[in-house]
Amino acid sequence: MKAKVNEGCISCGTCVAACPEVFRFNEEDLAEAYADVTEEVQESAEEARDSCPVAVIDIFE
Ligand code: SF4
Repeated sequence: MKAKVNEGCISCGTCVAACPEVFRFNEEDLAEAYADVTEEVQESAEEARDSCPVAVIDIFE
């Protein structure tokens, strides 16, 4: 699966803390998904998505 951070990230850091295997901050201090969502990290990636205060994270096939 893949993840995507849509426009509107407020740089809170929650997703990066919850799932650093998939999310990181880019040069503009906005979160980005830099890796695929493997089975091993799916749970924490979904937790990151569900914890985003502005709901800008999508996880999809
Ligand atoms: S949890 Fe949402 S608002 Fe916070 S850094 Fe990640 S994408 Fe941005």
